[in-house]
Amino acid sequence: MKVPFLNLKATYTELQPELDAAYAQVMDHGWYILGEQVSTFECEFAEYCTANHAIGVGSGLDALYLVLKAWGIGPGDEVIVPANTFIATWLAVSYTGATPVGVEPDELTYNISISEIENKITKHTKAIIPVHLYGQPADMDAINNIAKSYQLKVLEDAAQAHGARYYGKRTGSLGDAAAFSFYPGKNLGAYGDGGMVVTSDHALAEQIRLLRNYGSHEKYVHSKIGVNSRLDELHAAQLRVKLKVLNLWNQRRSEMAEMYTQLIENRGLIVPYVPDWADPAWHLYVVRTKQRAELTVQLDNAGIGWQIHYPIPAHLQDAYRDLKGKKGDFPLTEQLSSEILSLPIGPHLTSEEKTHLVRFFEP
Ligand SMILES: *Cc1c(COP(=O)(O)O)cnc(C)c1O
Repeated sequence: MKVPFLNLKATYTELQPELDAAYAQVMDHGWYILGEQVSTFECEFAEYCTANHAIGVGSGLDALYLVLKAWGIGPGDEVIVPANTFIATWLAVSYTGATPVGVEPDELTYNISISEIENKITKHTKAIIPVHLYGQPADMDAINNIAKSYQLKVLEDAAQAHGARYYGKRTGSLGDAAAFSFYPGKNLGAYGDGGMVVTSDHALAEQIRLLRNYGSHEKYVHSKIGVNSRLDELHAAQLRVKLKVLNLWNQRRSEMAEMYTQLIENRGLIVPYVPDWADPAWHLYVVRTKQRAELTVQLDNAGIGWQIHYPIPAHLQDAYRDLKGKKGDFPLTEQLSSEILSLPIGPHLTSEEKTHLVRFFEP
């Protein structure tokens, strides 16, 4: 018996008739870039997030980058980012020419530590990018309060948190703007790359619409130095089908998380901590243990897939040599990277696979 970490093909199989029809409809319609599928999906996704605007772009990284760019962030500026995140959060800042300034995580939630943010704010700081890591919302009220007192923008990195809630409110509606990714493995995933900017700021939405399309508001008329970063019609049509089952699939993830937590709690592993106000999207189920090497051998022997999110923190990557980060700069982030392990939690675990997982973890 094998339990794969992720089964993308199963996301297609479950919805095959609807996804094939959506695909065929676009092919047949004959309009492939910025058409009615993208604009309809933008409306549907904005509504899902309870925000005014959604703008489809080429990837989650582009969504982050384009917002920073639209805010005029660039060389000489600093942007606060979690030290403990996927590197794209940092890369988006670097693309603008600004400097990413890392902040350690909270020991319980692994999200950006509220008490450490103010220590990193300087006169060059322009924005904070909280990440809803593993699908768990960051403490947005606290972050928004800090941002308000220093006049900073707040950009949610919601790439792992489609449908998560904070005090009942959806991610995407919790800051000045939010960036989502539709990379295939995300909770709402396309069959290729895609992303979305979500905001209730009308002027910002207009800027993003220009920037994603060569800075053009009218064909061959260009008011900005823009880029080409658009969500495809084919992906939008299929994402509309998948948006309808997002809550159901998140519910399956949540049931799986509950099962793990009950089984694992007594096995010396640290299970995810969920604050009262959080309703996570359970993109990943991450446990923490000092005996990770032994655990991975046991999982391998049992045919159970696992991954590490993420093994090398951004400040220790060669890409960031120029920032002169060294071991010890972010001790908790570094410790987590050597102790965390993600278990299979996709919405497509079969009942046989679940039984196999239960047997493995049963005392
Ligand atoms: C996936 C991810 C991104 C980037 O999204 P892409 O669509 O792959 O560019 C950004 N931030 C986080 C936290 C992610 O997990």
